Amino acid sequence: MKNNFNFKIAQRMAKVSPSATLKLTSKAKEMKAKGLPVISFGAGEPDFDTPGAVKDEAVRCLNAGFTKYTPTSGIPELRSAVCEKFSEDQGLRYSPENIVISCGAKHSLYNLFQVLCEAGDEVLIPAPYWVSYPEMVYLAGGTPVFIPTLQSEGFRLTPERLRQALTPKSKILILNSPSNPTGGIMEESDLRAIAEIVVEKNLICISDEIYEYYLYDNKKHVSIASFNEEIKKRTFVVNGTSKSYSMTGLRIGYLAGDAEVVKKIGILQDHSTSNPTSISQKMAVAALKLPKTYREEVRQIFEKRSRLMVELISKAKGFKPFVPQGAFYVFCDIESIGLGSEVLCDRLLEEINVAVIPGKSFGSDKHVRFSFASSEKDILEGIGRITDWTNKIIG
Ligand SMILES: *Cc1c(COP(=O)(O)O)cnc(C)c1O
Repeated sequence: MKNNFNFKIAQRMAKVSPSATLKLTSKAKEMKAKGLPVISFGAGEPDFDTPGAVKDEAVRCLNAGFTKYTPTSGIPELRSAVCEKFSEDQGLRYSPENIVISCGAKHSLYNLFQVLCEAGDEVLIPAPYWVSYPEMVYLAGGTPVFIPTLQSEGFRLTPERLRQALTPKSKILILNSPSNPTGGIMEESDLRAIAEIVVEKNLICISDEIYEYYLYDNKKHVSIASFNEEIKKRTFVVNGTSKSYSMTGLRIGYLAGDAEVVKKIGILQDHSTSNPTSISQKMAVAALKLPKTYREEVRQIFEKRSRLMVELISKAKGFKPFVPQGAFYVFCDIESIGLGSEVLCDRLLEEINVAVIPGKSFGSDKHVRFSFASSEKDILEGIGRITDWTNKIIG
């Protein structure tokens, strides 16, 4: 039905764009449904099934009638389990009053901007960046300020580049290590220097650590909040069960930080979403209690695929992959092909039915993003098609 009523859309939506990642993956799904042999490297979620123990917990909860409202900021059991997780993984001490459970880490981040950011505030975002950060800042009325990072420097945010981007209006710095889309991680020495700047300039740090378990080459995850009390006070650590435990659709995220801010986020949830799904919260408790061997098994599979993917992409003319140190993406320089990232991705999908995400939506039109949350068979076949294609078009 097409109506002829002209809705006047609220100004706050003016700068917000639709998610390009979701657009391309849905087009690929449509083509697949029509019977085309589509191979997708678009996935932003693990391709493994949710662990059995986590699914069993859902069944148990349903049968026990655990289907009613819970406390808005999360059930006490989950908030405690999150405290234990921070303590075990990073030696970070929080109490449940520092924790709020939300409907995915995306929601945790959204809430933070709503509560901390207002008109005139500048939010520092290292680029390339995860698609939703700038849009969330716009929705809160703030101004994103992008700090460029380079593939030749491992996409590291250096303390020098951070200093160059600072203005009297700088309020929040976003960190995302390991990074989506680049697969880069922060070096501990850089992170320590950045923590000093955050404290010196009285900034707030939002540290999105959702890919913490996916690290390669024996790298270890370090949270900026773990260095000292001064930086911990100013940091909000965001995480969730989506990426770590193949639970993307169950929508559980959480954050840890200052108790007063956490209380305000609880009030925001009171009047917006109320509690995250009751059953999902119990499933998250079960996930956090899984034996640590689960993470290591998944990590090893991803590490093997990442190496295979990089090796194969390196053989495709014009593609210069960055070897990921974390997450499950290969970010790849395509500048020498001479096509913008959107045109290139459209052609790959149309001409050889391979779905890859344009870097433009992550702040770099000279890159594309491959996800290796796909089978080795698909990686061999899909990258093979790309190699043949580039041989033809570049010659
Ligand atoms: C996937 C992702 C999130 C959000 O995940 P949720 O499913 O909302 O928990 C947050 N940050 C980054 C960088 C991501 O890739």
